[in-house]
Amino acid sequence: MECIFCQIVAGNIPSDILYQDEEVIAFRDINPQAPTHLVIIPRMHIPSLANLSEAQLPVIGRMINTANELAKKEGVSESGYRVAINCGEQGGQLVPHLHMHLLGGRKLSGGLG
Ligand code: 5GP
Ligand code: ZN
Repeated sequence: MECIFCQIVAGNIPSDILYQDEEVIAFRDINPQAPTHLVIIPRMHIPSLANLSEAQLPVIGRMINTANELAKKEGVSESGYRVAINCGEQGGQLVPHLHMHLLGGRKLSGGLG
């Protein structure tokens, strides 16, 4: 098992887990780009957004719901936040396990790349 996020799911690599259920796990990014920078992943190893099957679509809703709930807990729900999914090399994806970034706590740049 080489996937770093699968290792986090398995508990082999420690992480600051803020939420987990049977489908998703959320933890603090090791290299935060904003005061709140969380990573939300499905437990299942799905390599990227591009690999998501129609049957797997509901997990994105679970990830979004987790992001919204954690944004409230982090106190950024009112001030605003960004969710982002990088997909593939040119999309800036470094870890090949589908994940969503939740960023907030500062005024984020208007640019998207
Ligand atoms: P990507 O560029 O693939 O969209 O984002 C991967 C994110 O995972 C990066 O923001 C990176 O800091 C984070 N990351 C990579 N390895 C680890 C790790 O071992 N633990 C945690 N908590 N975050 C990680
Ligand atoms: Zn994985």
